Amino acid sequence: MNWLLVGASTIAAEYMIPAMRAQPGGSVAHVVSGTAERAGEFAARHRIPSWGTSLEAALAAPGIDAVYISSTNEKHHPQAMGAIAAGKHVLCEKPLGMSLAEASGMVRAAEARGVVFATNHHLRCAGSHRAIRALVADGRVGKVLSMRVHHAVYLPPHLQGWRLNDPAAGGGVIPDITVHDADTVRFHLGEDPVDVVAQMTQSGLGQGVEDSCMSVWSTPSGVQVFAHDSFTHRHAGCGLEIHGAEGSIFGRGIMTQKPVGEVELVTAEGRERVSYPAYDLYTQGIADFEAAVAGKGRPAADGADGVKSLTIALAVREAARSGARQRIDYGGF
Ligand code: NDP
Repeated sequence: MNWLLVGASTIAAEYMIPAMRAQPGGSVAHVVSGTAERAGEFAARHRIPSWGTSLEAALAAPGIDAVYISSTNEKHHPQAMGAIAAGKHVLCEKPLGMSLAEASGMVRAAEARGVVFATNHHLRCAGSHRAIRALVADGRVGKVLSMRVHHAVYLPPHLQGWRLNDPAAGGGVIPDITVHDADTVRFHLGEDPVDVVAQMTQSGLGQGVEDSCMSVWSTPSGVQVFAHDSFTHRHAGCGLEIHGAEGSIFGRGIMTQKPVGEVELVTAEGRERVSYPAYDLYTQGIADFEAAVAGKGRPAADGADGVKSLTIALAVREAARSGARQRIDYGGF
C-alpha cells in the first residue's frame, strides 16, 4: 500500500513510517506539512520521495492508496474530510476531532464514500492487551466488578509543546491519554461506559490545559472504572487491573507504545504469568488496516471506536469542568 502522510509529526517519524514500510510492498509516497521547509526536511530525513504543503494537490496525485493523518488535533477533521472526499482510505490519529459532531461527520462521510476509516488506537493492537481481552472474554475472572487504569506518565521533553499550552490545537491530557484509556476499557469490557465523574488539575507542566485527571466511570453491567491520567508523573509506572468475582488480571507497564510489560492472572488456583506475542503494535495496526481495505476483516479500531473514545474523553472533561456527573451520549453510535 502506498501511503500519503498528512503531518510531519513525531509519531509518524518514530512509529508509523517504519510500520508502513514493514508491510509487504508498503511504501510512503508523500508528506504534507504546514511549511515547505519542514516538509522538505522531514521528507529528506525519512527518505520520502515527494513532499509539499498542499493536501489538495497531494490527494490529486496518482498512486496514493491511503492517507495517514497525524497533525495536531484541530486539523484532523478538515484533513480527513478532504481525504475522504478524494476517495482515499484514511487512518486518523486520536482524538478524531475536537467534538462529537466533527468525529461523527468523518465516520458518516467515509461510510457514504465507501472508504475504510480507522482510528489509530494502538493499545488494542498489543499482544498484551489482546491476551487480557481473551482472558476476560473466556470468563477467567468471572463477572467483572471493577477496572483500574493507571496511565500517569511523564511527557517526554521533545513532546512538551502544544499538548501543554494550546487548547485550540487540542492540548491537554484528556484528549491525549484519557481517550486511549476510553478505547482500552471498551476493548476489554465489550461495553460502553454510561456516566462519569472527574476532577482535573495542572500539576506542573500544563499551561491553560489540564495535565492530570482522575475519573470514575460506570458501565451498563455495573463495572466501576477508575482512570488516572497525567503528563507529570516521572516514576508512577503504568498499567491496568481488571478485577472479577473469580479472579484479577494485572497488566504492568502495558499502557505504552512498545511491546513490553507483564500480565498476571490471579485466581483461587494461584498466580499465573500470562505469555503473549511481543510484536510491534503499530505494525499490527497497519496490517489490520490494510486487511480491512482488502475486504478481510475490520481495522483494529474503526471510526465508531474513535467516535466513542472521543465522546468518553469529552464527557470526562465536562465532568471535571462542571463538577457534575455526566451521562455519556454517543449520538447514535
Ligand atoms: P507533533 O507535535 O510531533 O506533530 C504535530 C504537528 O506539529 C506536526 O504535524 C507538525 O506540523 C508540527 N510539528 C511537529 N514538530 C515540529 C517542530 N519541531 N517544529 C514545528 N512544528 C512541528 O505531534 P505528535 O506526533 O506527538 O502527535 C500528532 C498526532 O498523533 C496527535 O493527534 C496525537 O494525539 C497523535 N498521537 C497518537 C499516538 C498513538 O499512539 N496513537 C502517539 C502520539 C501521538 P506540520 O505537519 O504542519 O509540519
